[in-house]
Amino acid sequence: MARYIDSVCKICRREGMKLFFKAERCYTDKCAFERRSYAPGQHGQARGKVSEYALQLREKQKIKRVYGLMESQFKNTFKDADRSKGITGENLVSFLERRLDNAVHRAGFAGSRKEARMLVTQGYFRVNGRKVDIPSFRLRANDTIEVAAKKKKDEKIIGSLKAVERRGVPGWLILDRDNMKATVSRLPVRDDVTLPMHEQLIVELYSK
Ligand code: SF4
Repeated sequence: MARYIDSVCKICRREGMKLFFKAERCYTDKCAFERRSYAPGQHGQARGKVSEYALQLREKQKIKRVYGLMESQFKNTFKDADRSKGITGENLVSFLERRLDNAVHRAGFAGSRKEARMLVTQGYFRVNGRKVDIPSFRLRANDTIEVAAKKKKDEKIIGSLKAVERRGVPGWLILDRDNMKATVSRLPVRDDVTLPMHEQLIVELYSK
């Protein structure tokens, strides 16, 4: 399957904001955006007029890459959001947040979503006591995510949990650090996402 293989820091620079793809490095002065906060490339510092379509497309690309999805996965999530009750844009954000790989990262078991996805596919987690190795698994209220017993001494997870205080755990997850367990206390809502996101632009793009 095709994957984005260029430097992820270029995405932050292109979008003009820190998108935190690289765990600890993002919080240090080695962060590429802290050093060069303009778009990459020869014309990166030039400012041109941006069309409405370009803005919509850029927003979709940004969110897709933040959550590490391919186009078809993202579009399917959008279709699901559109079919569900409520506001499509808010449903989309909620569905993206409820992905198991995202929740693993947000709970503090992994420094980035990319690392979380890798750990999930390697069978590191149990959802409601059962092994789930599908990153896109959609969590429901009251679900529990727990590190598998034989992985609880894994240095990567212990290190990530130490760093979680800096990032904070969102209000829809309750972390039990000692037992390496997190509970979905309620479904995530739009306000739980602190990253600047204009989901309405994505709705407009796909509604064309
Ligand atoms: Fe973005 Fe900085 Fe992290 Fe690179 S180090 S991914 S530029 S926030």
